[in-house]
Amino acid sequence: MSDTAGLRSSSCATELVCPACDSRAELTDTAFRCPRCDAGFDIEYDYELAKSRIEARPLSDRPRNVWRFEELLPIVSRSAADRVARFAGQTPLIRAERLGAELGLRNLYVKDDSTNRPSLSYKDRVVGMAVARALELGAAEIGCVSTGNVGTATASLAAAVGLKPYVFYPANLERAKARGCRALGAQVCQVDGNYDEANRACRELTEATGIPFANISLRPFYAEGAKTLAYEVVEDLGWNSPDHIVMPAAGGTLSSRVHKALLEFEALGLAETSGTKLHIGQPTGCSPIVKTIVEGGAEIVPQVPETLAQSLAIGSPGDGPLVLEAVRSRGGSAADVPDGEILEAMELLASTEGVLTEPAGGTTVAATMKLAQRGLIRPDDVTVIVVSGNGLKTLNEQPVKPWPEGVPCNAATMEEVVVEFREGGVTSSV
Ligand SMILES: [Zn+2]
Repeated sequence: MSDTAGLRSSSCATELVCPACDSRAELTDTAFRCPRCDAGFDIEYDYELAKSRIEARPLSDRPRNVWRFEELLPIVSRSAADRVARFAGQTPLIRAERLGAELGLRNLYVKDDSTNRPSLSYKDRVVGMAVARALELGAAEIGCVSTGNVGTATASLAAAVGLKPYVFYPANLERAKARGCRALGAQVCQVDGNYDEANRACRELTEATGIPFANISLRPFYAEGAKTLAYEVVEDLGWNSPDHIVMPAAGGTLSSRVHKALLEFEALGLAETSGTKLHIGQPTGCSPIVKTIVEGGAEIVPQVPETLAQSLAIGSPGDGPLVLEAVRSRGGSAADVPDGEILEAMELLASTEGVLTEPAGGTTVAATMKLAQRGLIRPDDVTVIVVSGNGLKTLNEQPVKPWPEGVPCNAATMEEVVVEFREGGVTSSV
């Protein structure tokens, strides 16, 4: 560790552990996959110690950011934890009455991570842990492979602490996100291939160059950041865990670590969480996890993505097996949604709650609608929809109705637009 001051955070992380074969490695080890079975390493904690430390420090003394329950995060360097992602997390849990009325759900909430800081997506939580880990290792650089949001989070969080960021995108990326990374000073490369091909190339690159990659070589640490979303939901519901949490899935980090976080709060006696069902939404054009859950399969079969929801276009989800365990052990379910319904759900969320999301958020709203229609979510159940990314970053992809050619824009024609809008005919004439 490069933490020369020798100051430790109150992290209670103990070691790296393989979820498949229980092999173990030191927390200081830079291995990220199990040498015996190649499964990604998970992080283990001393929960007895965590319980006593959490009880000893009142909530009022704790920061309102991702480090609020630092005991349950893997960063042991005090200076790294203090420097990174100080504004990430603590996003609003919105009581969504108007959207709920549309979906027939009377106790609906939106966990709005589209307002996360600094980069307007849930990825600020996970990349925050990876950047802190990179500092802890004494790195000067950090890379990532990204469908979009991991890139902007890495570019922004790395810039803020003086690490040189490298962002690698697949060929079919959302261009505004790449431009954002360039504007933040990152070296940006568009890989010739889809996300899964870019991911394989980056795994070779991290081994060849030693550049730590946020979501490859730092992945065990990165993934732990996702737990903070669940801690916040439970605390904001008055230390009650909801009946349902509906999440999007790409690589599967979010849902698998939300499951872990709920188990932790239960084990620490902070909340009764065993009744919470976890549900997954994916676009029909990239739904390997949903397909396996719905069909009751044992293993996820990779797909070649074909969807406008680029941030969910991962055909070979790295944490897929953990998602199956998370959903099935809690009696949850899954739904896939065609691109057209994703766009409609984005508009519905925007027009009922004022939350502008990217297609990933539309996917989750549309999936919730299907689960409610199937009776898997009942009208009075407390339900949380996770909106993971901001629509401002994907505006280039939004459908817009143009002003008709040759028609002057004056008071008379504008009045026609008003009349049409009152009747619910159009939503845009820009
Ligand atoms: Zn193993």
